[in-house]
Amino acid sequence: MKIKIPFNIPPQTGKELEYIKHVFKNNHLTGDGEFTKKCSELMENKFDASRVILTTSGTHALDMAAILLDLKKGDEVIVPSFTFSSTVNAFVLRGATPVFIDIKEDTLNIKEDLIEESITKNTKAIFLVHYAGISCDIDRIKKIAKKYNLFIVEDAAQAINAKYKDTYLGTIGDFGIFSFHETKNYSCGEGGALIINNKKFIERAEIIREKGTDRSKFYRGEVDKYTWVDVGSSFLPSEILAAVLYTQLENMDKIQNKRKSIYNYYYKKLKPLEGAGKLTLPIIPKNNSCNYHMFYVLLPTEKIRNELMSFLKKKSILAVFHYLPLHLSKMGRKYNYKKNDLPITENISGKILRLPFYFSLSKNEINIVVKNINNYFKING
Ligand SMILES: *Cc1c(COP(=O)(O)O)cnc(C)c1O
Repeated sequence: MKIKIPFNIPPQTGKELEYIKHVFKNNHLTGDGEFTKKCSELMENKFDASRVILTTSGTHALDMAAILLDLKKGDEVIVPSFTFSSTVNAFVLRGATPVFIDIKEDTLNIKEDLIEESITKNTKAIFLVHYAGISCDIDRIKKIAKKYNLFIVEDAAQAINAKYKDTYLGTIGDFGIFSFHETKNYSCGEGGALIINNKKFIERAEIIREKGTDRSKFYRGEVDKYTWVDVGSSFLPSEILAAVLYTQLENMDKIQNKRKSIYNYYYKKLKPLEGAGKLTLPIIPKNNSCNYHMFYVLLPTEKIRNELMSFLKKKSILAVFHYLPLHLSKMGRKYNYKKNDLPITENISGKILRLPFYFSLSKNEINIVVKNINNYFKING
C-alpha cells in the first residue's frame, strides 16, 4: 500500500471543539471576547511583549503596520525579495516603493551588508523576514535603522516562539507580526497577530483595527460613546477562531518540541547525503533558538530539485518549493527589476525543496520520505 504523505497537516490539540462550544455557550461570537484576551495575554507574557493584538491574518497585521507608519507614495521600504507577497503588498498598498535586497546563502535571510548602500533620503522602513524561524542579524540591522532613523517591521510569520539570544522574534522591531495560517506552527486556519513594541503606536493600532473607531476605549469605560476618529478597517478575528488558537498557544512548547524532534530526525537521516555532496542541509546559527518551522534542503541544481520533487510526488510524497523571487514577478518587474539583479535569491529559489513537516508527522513517515530521497539519488547517480 502506498502511504500518502502530504506537505502539511494543520496541528490539533484535541481541545478545539470544546473551546468552540464554550464560545457558543457564552453567546459572544464577535472579536475581543474572552479567548481573544487570553491569546493576547498569553503571548504578551510568554514573549515579554508590551502589546499583542490578534488580527484576521499575518497579512492584515502587516497591513496595519504599514498604515500605522503612515507609509505613502514617494517612501521607500527595504525588503528581501525572497518572501511572501504580503510582506511587500502591505506598504505597496499605501503607495510606497519596495527596494529589494538579496539574501545570504546560509540563512536565506536579508544580506545585512547590502542594506546601507540601498538607503536613500526617501527610505522610511526596513521590513525584515525571519525565514524558517531563523533570526536576521538583528543587532546589526538595529544599528543601521538607528543611524538612518528608520522603522523596523519584523515579518515573524514563520518565527513565533523563536529567539535571538534571549529575545523572542517579533518583539525587537517597532512592530512584529505572526501568522496563524494553517501552514504555520500554531494555527486557527486564518489568523495573525500584530506585536506593538513601540508603545506610541498602541492607541492608534486599537483604533485602526476597530474600523477607525475608539470602540476599544469604550469597552474599557474610558469614553462614554464611541465614534469615527481615524482611518481603519476590520482586522479582528471572531472568538471562534481565537478559541481554536488558544488551545494551540496553551500547547506551544509541546508542539514546538515535537517539531524539534522531527527536524533533528530528518537532519540525522539526511546527513549522509550531505556528506556525499548530494544536498545541503539547513543551519541554525549561534545566538538562535529556532522554532523548527520547516525543514528544507538545497539541491545542487534546479534540474535536480525539480526531478526529485516529481520523483517524490510519484510516490505520493508532497515536497514543495517557494518563493519565486518577488523582484522577477509580474509585480516586481513593474519596479524595473530584471534577471541577475539579486543573484543569490534567484539561485536559491531554484534549489530549495521543503519536505513534509507537521505536528503529527511520524518517524515512520519520515523514514519513507528519506528512503525515497535516497532511492532518487541511487537511480540518478
Ligand atoms: C505565511 C506568511 C505570511 C502571511 O501570513 P497570512 O496569515 O497567511 O496572511 C507573511 N509573510 C510570511 C513570511 C509568511 O510565511
